[in-house]
Amino acid sequence: MSRIAIIGGGAAGIAAARCLAEHGKDYVLLEAKPFTGGRCVTDHATLGAPIDLGAHWLHSPALNPLVGYADRLGIRYSRAALAGRYSRNGAWLNAKEQAACETYVEECFARIAACDGDVAISALFPDTNSPWHDVFLAEQGAKQGVAAATSSSRDFANYVWEGDDCPVTDGFGTLLSQLADGLNIRVDTPVNRIDWSGRDIKLTTPDGILVAQRIILATSTAILHDGIEFAPALPDWKRRAIADLPLGSCNKVALRFSRPVFGDCPPSLILPLRGAHEAVEIVVRESDLEIATCLFNGPFAKELAAAGHPAMANYALERLSEIFGSDVKQASMPQYIIADWDHDLHIRGCYAAARVGRADARAELARPIDDRLFFAGEACSTNYMGDVHGAWFSGIAAAEAASA
Ligand SMILES: Cc1cc2nc3c(=O)[nH]c(=O)nc-3n(C[C@H](O)[C@H](O)[C@H](O)COP(=O)(O)OP(=O)(O)OC[C@H]3O[C@@H](n4cnc5c(N)ncnc54)[C@H](O)[C@@H]3O)c2cc1C
Repeated sequence: MSRIAIIGGGAAGIAAARCLAEHGKDYVLLEAKPFTGGRCVTDHATLGAPIDLGAHWLHSPALNPLVGYADRLGIRYSRAALAGRYSRNGAWLNAKEQAACETYVEECFARIAACDGDVAISALFPDTNSPWHDVFLAEQGAKQGVAAATSSSRDFANYVWEGDDCPVTDGFGTLLSQLADGLNIRVDTPVNRIDWSGRDIKLTTPDGILVAQRIILATSTAILHDGIEFAPALPDWKRRAIADLPLGSCNKVALRFSRPVFGDCPPSLILPLRGAHEAVEIVVRESDLEIATCLFNGPFAKELAAAGHPAMANYALERLSEIFGSDVKQASMPQYIIADWDHDLHIRGCYAAARVGRADARAELARPIDDRLFFAGEACSTNYMGDVHGAWFSGIAAAEAASA
């Protein structure tokens, strides 16, 4: 019997395990996949350079504890922010247009912050005639992974973001896997059923039943929703909180080119503007490599993922050749990386966005049951939701509560 079992080996589970290990507690972490990291995974092989399939940026570096870990472990990240550039129908916005666009987006964020209630973000913008409204929607979609019509204004306003975004050039997944080193972890061990009817909690795994006194649930909300059977069922208030924090979508394609194709474009984060629906961001030439990583956000990401991997890669090549010319297609190397989180059996989306009127569901999700079932994960964080450091803080909070 382990006194405390952690279910899920992403950032939250790893943080919880490290905290329990530091306090000398008896714990085990059970991870469904053959590796830890969850939504932080780095592919080193396919393109000959580290490519993050999920998280890549250390947000809010001043308050982000993972920056300190990266420093101690010698994991490289960049302090230099990428140039932000916008292109419409293949043409770069000029300086005046870009300034007008950035001002408009800031005004939209300010309007959301000033809203007293908790309404759909789209309801705050009945007049969407601004030529820059699709830019705002692309940025909102990137943060929340859902459409403005289904996204809670308060949840969005609660998010704390300070300072720059630092890309982890060695890979965010590399950092997380080093942080998991030496912990008591069983991989390839999905927990399918949790029987908490008696004094001991029984966890059913393919290797048999494991018994614990307390558990920390550190999976995505999609898995809590219907990926694990609870006996008895979780109480109504908890099930409501889980249901009101569904996962949005953010998927990626990374491509490498056999020769320089980006001209004199510096390392950049590009928004190719194609109307409100196609919420896409493209990172080019990070670390001066001829690599492009396209991020698809919100409902558009889901549609593209449903169309299949070749369709995702083709879409990325179309957008790139619109901006950089047709040589992009000729120079594209045959191997590419697809990160389709919607169809990842053990995650099923990118990050949780509160339903309209339900920003307070995060605090309910984080609240323990009976002082025996504890909850962690990015969705539990009220201010750093959707971020690795939000998941990390929640894992520590759950571990401290579970070992109290
Ligand atoms: C494409 C993308 C880009 C992102 N970019 C950034 C970024 O740049 N910066 C940033 O800070 N954040 C980013 N994020 C968000 C960040 O990755 C997540 O918020 C964070 O990693 C979530 O960690 P977690 O521990 O809450 O959950 P997860 O990482 O999902 O961990 C949960 C773990 O539980 C396991 N599991 C599931 N079911 C079971 C079961 N039944 N039994 C045992 N184990 C189970 C899963 O396999 C998984 O390993 C991004 C996410 C995506 C998808």
